Amino acid sequence: MQAMATETFAANMRGPVIQRMDADYDAVRSLYNGMIDKTPLLIARCTDAADVVTAVNFARDNDLAVAIRGGGHSGPGLGSVDDGLVIDLSMMKGVRVDPVTRTVRVGPGCTQGDVDHATHLYGLAVPAGIVSSTGIAGLTLGGGTGYLTRKYGLTIDNLLEADVVLADGRIVTANASENFDLYWALRGGGGNFGVVTSFLFRAHPVSMVYAGPVFWDIEHARIVMQKYREFLPGAPEELGTFVGLKTVPPVDPFPGEHQGKQACAIISCYNGPAEEGQALMARLLGALPVPLFNWMGEMPFPALQSMFDPFFPKGLQWYWRGDFVKELSDQAIEAYIAQARRLPSTLSLMHLYPIDGAVHRVGKGDTAWNAREATWSMVIAGIDPNPQKAGEITRWTKGAWEAVHPYSAGGGYVNFMMDDGDDARLKATYGENYDRLVAVKSKYDPRNLFHVNQNIRPLH
Ligand SMILES: Cc1cc2nc3c(=O)[nH]c(=O)nc-3n(C[C@H](O)[C@H](O)[C@H](O)COP(=O)(O)OP(=O)(O)OC[C@H]3O[C@@H](n4cnc5c(N)ncnc54)[C@H](O)[C@@H]3O)c2cc1C
Repeated sequence: MQAMATETFAANMRGPVIQRMDADYDAVRSLYNGMIDKTPLLIARCTDAADVVTAVNFARDNDLAVAIRGGGHSGPGLGSVDDGLVIDLSMMKGVRVDPVTRTVRVGPGCTQGDVDHATHLYGLAVPAGIVSSTGIAGLTLGGGTGYLTRKYGLTIDNLLEADVVLADGRIVTANASENFDLYWALRGGGGNFGVVTSFLFRAHPVSMVYAGPVFWDIEHARIVMQKYREFLPGAPEELGTFVGLKTVPPVDPFPGEHQGKQACAIISCYNGPAEEGQALMARLLGALPVPLFNWMGEMPFPALQSMFDPFFPKGLQWYWRGDFVKELSDQAIEAYIAQARRLPSTLSLMHLYPIDGAVHRVGKGDTAWNAREATWSMVIAGIDPNPQKAGEITRWTKGAWEAVHPYSAGGGYVNFMMDDGDDARLKATYGENYDRLVAVKSKYDPRNLFHVNQNIRPLH
């Protein structure tokens, strides 16, 4: 790369272009997952869509590999690339809420917390994930599951429109009436088709919620998971509730006598009056042993959304794998518990997030996201602050995933894939939508400029 070309590129950008010799290079290139250490040639910190167009054109014309970075939370570090150009969107924040139409315009550098913060003022929320530091861009393009999913669908089911910079440098709008094929593919197909510079979402009335975790000793995990499985299909969709196998964090304010215990938890959010939520949860809790603690209570929705943030700061070691799950048989429950008894660290976890209700009311072919018949999106994550435990948490995750995989529905959520997102896995995930995704990819990015993602390869 000629120094002159880089200089001209930087001069055409409003935002800074960071190079290896710059003092802030290491800070800017670092990713959420401390296990991933990538050294890009250049990081273009875009401030607007024109910067993105400049960066895409520069990468294409100079044969540079391109990574697109929103919140930087990708497990396998797909927001960066060795020796290539990172299109860093994290400075492109900004949320505008229209309370009349209940729509929200969101910049691609926003975290989920940025969106919740802005919408809460109006008593609204966009259905998204459960940790506030997650980037809204990557989460949305992969699908987006969270507490509001049962009632209001995946994040993509609430995506009305996106502005996209294509590989040839054109900027287009994709919605139900313009570039519909692209709009279809963006809803689950990940970052394969271009750089999204603006999202328009539908929001829903959400303000105070009755929410929080309930923990039991792992001795009770079998009955908790069985009763949860039976309770879920009949529970009102206002209740988002997931089940997890984990450890009681060995820190305050968790009760000293329970800290470090292996546990099964149900973590829930009822979007409605607290008394209703309490009565509903009593139907489930009444059939279960006394928990170690029940921390459900009334709180503002953004408080729930950031409840787990302190446990998951940037820089931890992460290795994760997921699957879609349709039925949770007794045998499957036993297999999950056996693996959970071998958790390699206190932060490691196995979670099953429900994707029923509104998700099932969207057709399999209506968006790229095909798993409309699954009941849960499951993730297994080995997590630890110590880089020396990277090997151990990776081995445990792979082993646990292999042990429970036979009980899965086939395919997995692309946002919970690590290095397992090969062609066969993506075909299993997208099912009959796969060929259509290849066609859209071939039309909008025929040379696969955007390949640092769970990659859909264009036809040659
Ligand atoms: C602590 C934690 C909690 C999570 N919780 C949830 C959850 O509750 N629900 C859920 O659904 N997922 C969850 N996830 C997974 C999350 O959805 C993915 O990690 C997602 O990739 C994060 O998006 P990002 O923008 O932060 O990532 P990045 O690393 O910045 O990007 C990830 C991918 O998205 C693409 N991309 C990003 N921005 C754009 C853009 N503007 N245009 C085109 N492509 C783009 C990139 O090419 C890259 O492949 C969680 C992850 C973590 C680490």
